Amino acid sequence: MTSAAGRAELRALLDELHASATARVASIDATLAELRADRGADVADDEHDPEGVTLSGEWARAVGLEEAARREISEIDDAVKRWEDGTYGVCIDCGRGIPIARLRARPFATRCVSCAEKAGA
Ligand SMILES: [Zn+2]
Repeated sequence: MTSAAGRAELRALLDELHASATARVASIDATLAELRADRGADVADDEHDPEGVTLSGEWARAVGLEEAARREISEIDDAVKRWEDGTYGVCIDCGRGIPIARLRARPFATRCVSCAEKAGA
């Protein structure tokens, strides 16, 4: 079983991850707003403008990063929900406790290592 101190540490880690993912979304939003502004200034010849292509690449990358950050936030939210339900740190497949070392590395893990391997995750 996970010690109380270890659990408190993990709870703090979840909050920290949530805060940093939220900050990441905010900074990506700012980047997207900037790109949108750049684009708006020169939208007429976008297709033939090599810079337009670069902007599209940056845009796609920023959108991808934002999606990943939002996905992470929702995984953290789920983990916090499990925490409140008292099921955090319990493998959803075999019902055994997930080792704290794994939770430190992946605070929103829902399976123990062997079940995660079986599930192909
Ligand atoms: Zn398991």
